[in-house]
Order: sequence, then structure tokens, then C-alpha cells
Amino acid sequence: MTGRLEAAGSAAAPPSAGRRERIRRVREQMAHVGVDALLLSHGADLPWLTGYRAMPLERLTMFVLRTDADPVLLVPALEAPRVADSHGLFEVRAWNETEDPVELVARLLPSGARAASSAAGRGEHATYAVSDRAWAQTLIALQGRLPTARWMPASTVTSPLRAVKDAEEIAVLRAAAAAADSVARALQAGEVEVVGRTEEAVSAEIAARLVAAGHRRVNFSIVGSGPNGASPHHDASGRLIGPGDTVVCDFGGEFPSPDGVAYCSDITRTVSVGDPSPEVDDCYAVLEAAQAAAVAAVAPGVTAEHVDAVARQMIADAGFGDFFIHRTGHGIGIEEHEDPYIVAGNGTPLVPGHAFSIEPGIYFPGRFGMRLEDIVVVCEDGVDPLNRVDHSLAVVA
Ligand code: ZN
Ligand code: ZN
Ligand code: ZN
Repeated sequence: MTGRLEAAGSAAAPPSAGRRERIRRVREQMAHVGVDALLLSHGADLPWLTGYRAMPLERLTMFVLRTDADPVLLVPALEAPRVADSHGLFEVRAWNETEDPVELVARLLPSGARAASSAAGRGEHATYAVSDRAWAQTLIALQGRLPTARWMPASTVTSPLRAVKDAEEIAVLRAAAAAADSVARALQAGEVEVVGRTEEAVSAEIAARLVAAGHRRVNFSIVGSGPNGASPHHDASGRLIGPGDTVVCDFGGEFPSPDGVAYCSDITRTVSVGDPSPEVDDCYAVLEAAQAAAVAAVAPGVTAEHVDAVARQMIADAGFGDFFIHRTGHGIGIEEHEDPYIVAGNGTPLVPGHAFSIEPGIYFPGRFGMRLEDIVVVCEDGVDPLNRVDHSLAVVA
């Protein structure tokens, strides 16, 4: 994933009923985990809860959510015009250049305000959960101002909730997948020329097509041809793609939602330039069967690690176990990679609304590689695959 640039703005965000419900559930989880305040700056938790995405700048943006007070979004005065009407979900407080935003945050907190009813007011230590993606600078400043507080990552509160998508979120993920599918179809149909071009040129065309299909930003466009395909996150290079190459194309971006918060697409298809060798053909048959079996294994109550094990066992049984070198998948939403991770050791039972990739791969260093990836959503009666593009090894001329 190269060259992620934050979007310049996230404009209007009419708060959905969903957003109000998210705040309610977050507060419930805070009480459950023992968090007095959630402090969100950069990262996906903030737009997920408020519809507002903070620019990754040095001036502090912080959403302060307490269990026992109305939420406040503290923003630099010059960013305030970018905050849409919160429709009463939270108060917006703009700070100007001569104010100390860390002090303003502290005053909004139980111990900062010395509230008698709070944990801190009773002489106990308050616990604050801070955005996993907050600057170290921000956290260190807060810790200096609130030396007795306990700290934890916001994901402790938000991750299990964010991993389960509501109907509005699934609709956007589905639209994002359909847009990515249209690019994958063009690739398989030979409309994206690959022969005689560099990986970089093919990558650039895929990226342009993602934007033309409705994405507002491209997160990555991996093109790994021949031996480069054996490096799962290979960056597109100047290598010329030629006859006999397998070409791993893994691409995705941010697709805008009606409320101004974007959700990600992510798909991998591998194509063969000319007819594949029998070895590539056999190997791909194993990959395709393993990916299909893992998708079919998805259902409520099944663990994340079981889905990984299904794909891994089939690839191992075919003798390629040592060449499947990464987890089977990752959750997807506002972030490209988020919970739940489909990996050994993750005993989380899947529930309806969990959205994630299933992307086994087989990689022979110095020779060739292949990967096959779809995004799926867990539904009441099993699995709803969002990507619908053909799964076979397409032969392009
Ligand atoms: Zn990846
Ligand atoms: Zn991918
Ligand atoms: Zn992926």
C-alpha cells in the first residue's frame, strides 16, 4: 500500500440513525471496559462516529466522548468550516491559534474538570482511550497534562463494534466492490493491455479506472509480473510484462458513501499472458479451490481462524503449504485493513455484518506467484460475497 494521501475534505455528513446508534453502543462498551472518556483524533474511528475526518496535520482535532457528558468535537478554528452540521449529535468547539488545545481537552475530562462524581473526583484513576492513529506528540502531551490517568488504545472500545457493519455500511462496501469488479472484468477481458507494457503503466491504468468507476482515491494498485508476483506486496516496477508471465493484480480504493465517509474496495485477480504452463495451471486449480472452500466455510458462529485453516489445509495438502506466507484475510471498512483478521489464533466467532477479505496466495520466490481475493460479508444464513468477478486464471493475449 503505497502513497496513501489523506483526502482533502470530508464534507457534509448528515448523521444517520446509524451514527446515533454507534455512539450509544460505544458508550455501552466504554462502561463495559471501564473507560471514562474516548479521545479520537486521526484514524477511522472519528469519521465512523461523527462523519468528520481530521486532516493529518499538527493542529489537534479531538472528539471527546464521555459516558456522563455530551460529546464535544474540538477542532482548529480554520478547520471548523469543514465540519458539517452535527444535527445535535455533538457540540463543535473551535480553538484558535493562541489557545492550548491539550489544555482544552483536559478541561473536558473528568479529572481535568475535577468533577466530584467522576472516578478521578473520587480519588481514583481515570481511564482514557486514545485513537490508535493519534500522533505520539498528542498522547505524550495529554499524559503530561494528566499524569495520574490510565491510557488504552481506542480500538479496545471501537474495534469490535466497527468490525460489524450496519446495513448502510454494507451497501457502500457492495457499491465499492462492484466498482472494483468492473476494473477486474476489464483486466480479464484484455481491455487493460498488459503485454509489452511495464508494471507501472498497467498499475497506473488500473488506478485511473478505479477513479473512473467512482472511487475518490486509490489506496494501492499492485501489479506483480513473473518473479515479482512472488512478493505479495510488490510495488509496480519498470519490468516489461511478456509472454508466459503470470500477473498478480491487487487493487482497491476509497468509495464515497452518501454521508461523506468512504469505504474501501480490495480485489485481487491473477492473469496469465498466453496459456499457462501445466505447473501454473495445477497450482492455480489448488488456489481457486482453496479460496472457494474458505468462502463457503463462512457462516455465523464459525471462527475467523477456522476460515483461515480451511484455505491453508487445502493448500498444504497439495504440497504448497510453505508457499502460502500470509494470513487468509483482513477486515475491511473505512480502513483497508481492520478487524476481524482471518488468521490462526483469532478465535472470534463470526457474526452477521463482519466484512473481510479472503485472499489466499501461493508464491514461489524468484519464479512466479498468484493470489485470489474477494471481499465477503457474513449474513444470517451464511456468506454474501461482494465481488462477483470470474475466479479462473484469465488468459490475456
Ligand atoms: Zn495486502
Ligand atoms: Zn488486496
Ligand atoms: Zn486485501
